[in-house]
Amino acid sequence: MNLKKMFSSDDIGLLLNALQFAAVKHRNQQRKSEEVISYINHPIEVAVTLWEIGEIRETATLMAALLHDTLEDTDTTEIEIMEQFGEEVLHLVQEVSDDKNLPKQQRKLKQIETAPHKSIAAKQIKLADKTCNVHDIAYSPPCDWSLERRQEYLDWTAKVVAGLRGINLALETHYDVTLSHARAILADLIVQK
Ligand code: NDP
Ligand code: ZN
Repeated sequence: MNLKKMFSSDDIGLLLNALQFAAVKHRNQQRKSEEVISYINHPIEVAVTLWEIGEIRETATLMAALLHDTLEDTDTTEIEIMEQFGEEVLHLVQEVSDDKNLPKQQRKLKQIETAPHKSIAAKQIKLADKTCNVHDIAYSPPCDWSLERRQEYLDWTAKVVAGLRGINLALETHYDVTLSHARAILADLIVQK
C-alpha cells in the first residue's frame, strides 16, 4: 500500500468517530438489493475506493465519504455534523447531499447541473459514490428494478460524472471500467431474455 502521508493517531480517531457515527445512523437500514446488505457497507466502500483507487489521504474527505449519506438518508441534522466533525466536513457532506424537498426528477437534473461547480473533494466523493452504485446496479441491484431502469440509472451516472472529471484520473478510469463492465452485464442479460 502506498502511504503518501503518515496518519496521526488524531486522524485515525476522527475516522473511527465518523465510521461509528455513520454506523449508528444507518443501523436499521439495508441497501435496496435482493441479498441483505447492511447500508453501512456502502459508505465504507466509498471511503475505501477513495483511499485505494484515488489515493486520497485527506482526513476530512475520507470522513465525509463515511458520512456522505447521513444527511440525505437518516435523521442526522447539520448541527450534529457541525458539532461532532466541524465545518469542513459538514460543508462536504452538504455538497454531496440532495435536497430532499425537491421532486426526484429535479434532484437528478440538479446533480448533473451542479457537478462541475463542486469542490475537488466533493467531486472525488461523488465519483467514488457513483462508481460504487454502478457496481451495485450490475451485481446487486435493487430487486424490483427492470433492466431498462438499471440502464437508465447507468446513463444518468455518466451524465453526472461528465461534470466531475479532471480531478483524479485513477478514480475516473475506475468509474469508466466499472461502467463498461456494468453495461456488458446488462447487455448479456438482455440477450438472455
Ligand atoms: P433512486 O435514486 O431511487 O435509487 C438509486 C439510489 O439508491 C442510488 O443512487 C443509491 O444512492 C441508492 N441505492 C441503494 N441500494 C442500491 C443498490 N443496490 N444499487 C444501486 N443503488 C442503490 O433511483 P431512481 O428512482 O432515480 O431511478 C434511477 C433511474 O431510473 C432514473 O434515471 C430514472 O429516470 C429511471 N426510472 C425508471 C423507471 C422505469 O420504470 N423505467 C421508474 C423510475 C425511474 P446512495 O449512494 O445515495 O445510497
Ligand atoms: Zn452513496
